[in-house]
Amino acid sequence: MRNNVFDRMEIQIGDITKLAVDAIVNAANQTLKGGGGVDGAIHRAAGPQLLDECRKIGECPTGEARITRGCNLDAKYVIHTVGPVYSGKPQDAELLAACYKNSLRLAAENGVRTIAFPAISCGVYGYPVNEAAKVAVEATIEFLKNNSSIEKVIFLLFSEQDAAVYRKTIESMQESAE
Ligand code: ADP
Repeated sequence: MRNNVFDRMEIQIGDITKLAVDAIVNAANQTLKGGGGVDGAIHRAAGPQLLDECRKIGECPTGEARITRGCNLDAKYVIHTVGPVYSGKPQDAELLAACYKNSLRLAAENGVRTIAFPAISCGVYGYPVNEAAKVAVEATIEFLKNNSSIEKVIFLLFSEQDAAVYRKTIESMQESAE
């Protein structure tokens, strides 16, 4: 059977804390102690138990990922990953790709079948969305090609503009893959 990775990726617009998926990914910072943006929203929605779990883990280096339960969220797990602060250097893309791959690997190891990512690093960390979308989608395709347990990867964008960028990115990659 053809394992079409493009059928396993989806774009949605909204609030990631509302999703009933197996895992949502948090764009955390290295301290894992919560922060602004999507990180703050996830901690508020998950409740104080999430911070307790994060405290037990300690710090997380940029590009790596850690997993906790979803606590009060509908999602069973939260995967916390730390994106790079955008610097314009090639290292940014490597670190951002590592966030996606490490999060997906951790998800697969924990039996996750459906997972949603926000636009990691595209808020306060300043990564341009068009560049980040390419990295995110490429890393996800590469992972899904070698994995059959993850059924759906949702790119959950906060705005229609960002979703349009992701849509174009996926379309152009799909065309060049055909
Ligand atoms: P970073 O520090 O990695 O840049 P931010 O939280 O500042 O993380 O932003 C990452 C992305 O998450 C931005 O595109 C922002 O618009 C988006 N975002 C903020 N809140 C939410 C939310 N509740 N659900 C989904 N995406 C969100």
